[in-house]
Amino acid sequence: MKILVINCGSSSLKFQLIDSKTEEALAKGLCERIGIDGSMSFTPKDGEKIKREVAIPDHTRAIQLVIESLTDPTHGVISSLEEIGAVGHRIVHGGERFTKSTLIDDDVIHDIEAISDLAPLHNPANLIGVRACREAMPSVPMVAVFDTAFHQTMPEEAYLYGLPYEYYVKHGIRRYGFHGTSHSYVSHRAAELMRRNYEDVKLVICHLGNGASISAVRRGQCIDTSMGLTPLEGLIMGTRVGDIDPSVIDVIRQKEHCHVADVMEVLNKKSGVYGLSNYYSSDFRDLEEGYEKSNEDATRAVKTFCYHVLKYIGSYVAANNGIHGIVFTAGIGENSPLVRRLIVRRLGFLGIQLDEEANNSARGVEKEISTLDSLVKVWVIPTNEELAIARDTYKLCHFAEENPATSTVTE
Ligand code: AMP
Repeated sequence: MKILVINCGSSSLKFQLIDSKTEEALAKGLCERIGIDGSMSFTPKDGEKIKREVAIPDHTRAIQLVIESLTDPTHGVISSLEEIGAVGHRIVHGGERFTKSTLIDDDVIHDIEAISDLAPLHNPANLIGVRACREAMPSVPMVAVFDTAFHQTMPEEAYLYGLPYEYYVKHGIRRYGFHGTSHSYVSHRAAELMRRNYEDVKLVICHLGNGASISAVRRGQCIDTSMGLTPLEGLIMGTRVGDIDPSVIDVIRQKEHCHVADVMEVLNKKSGVYGLSNYYSSDFRDLEEGYEKSNEDATRAVKTFCYHVLKYIGSYVAANNGIHGIVFTAGIGENSPLVRRLIVRRLGFLGIQLDEEANNSARGVEKEISTLDSLVKVWVIPTNEELAIARDTYKLCHFAEENPATSTVTE
């Protein structure tokens, strides 16, 4: 089955067409500046990237362009729309309602809408993509895959904040966690690579990208994660602040004579390694270069970022009651030997030994970077959220075909 994976934002739409049998991406692309002017890129498997400026007034037009590109007689990879067996949609927030991927129907759309106040920037945009796809492909089954679902196994002690309990009951204010599709994919892959049963293995997964989060995975379940009600909590990120004393918000508001909304903008867009480095850069390629040249601003940002990752790993080792492995993934985790070295070298107390040569050569490939006699294994495992979405979509559609009376599935 060929599965179209859609990741829809308010003005962008990323897509991949994945063959569920070979698990290969047959094509991928991006529609940007939707509703503004519009541009589109499309890369067929084994082909060159094709970029063009094209008017994209809304998401319905974006989906039409995706279909036109996929079926284009010259660059396309399928001969007709009929070849698309299902569509998998990334949905950011599933609240407590969605603990697993789900076949989309009107009730599911209604329920995703009902929890949109938890992710006002993301869920409505995700739903625009769902609606546009349903309009263009009314008979094709669609599946919602949630960023939060993997973390729904967290126990109460991990997901509750120290706030009045009534806020959780009335408003659902709690830790939800994000990047769940990545944490799930990478932790399953780590168990495979370590030749351990997923139900037995204890892992700490470090998803270090522009957005960054860590999770503790114990015997097949996520038991804690660093992002919270929103993706602002936890690690220091590209431009997001991560954990702070909540009083800081009011202090900045008073000192800078601004509103809470302005402070929130700073915490989301001007903080993280970008703010810490005195606006040197939010991109780790620049920060690494600065660090190597002993630039003070870059060095401060890199060191502080790594220290916070280290602290989280330590706390998740305790939460997991020991671990078998640590995994690095996402843009920085997969590509930065420097960041991995600065973190792993300080974990010697766990019996971890870094294989420096393996670490230096591991860039964007699956690789064990601890020595053979390291007590805890350390791996680099590239994430593949699109493939994880395609797998869930296939599983659900295949199951629904065989059990037509059911619209949801337990794994
Ligand atoms: P992501 O959000 O997973 O796409 O990751 C984006 C982050 O990965 C950015 O901070 C990039 O600078 C960083 N990144 C990508 N490639 C490299 C690289 N070769 N070395 C260091 N950081 C990288």
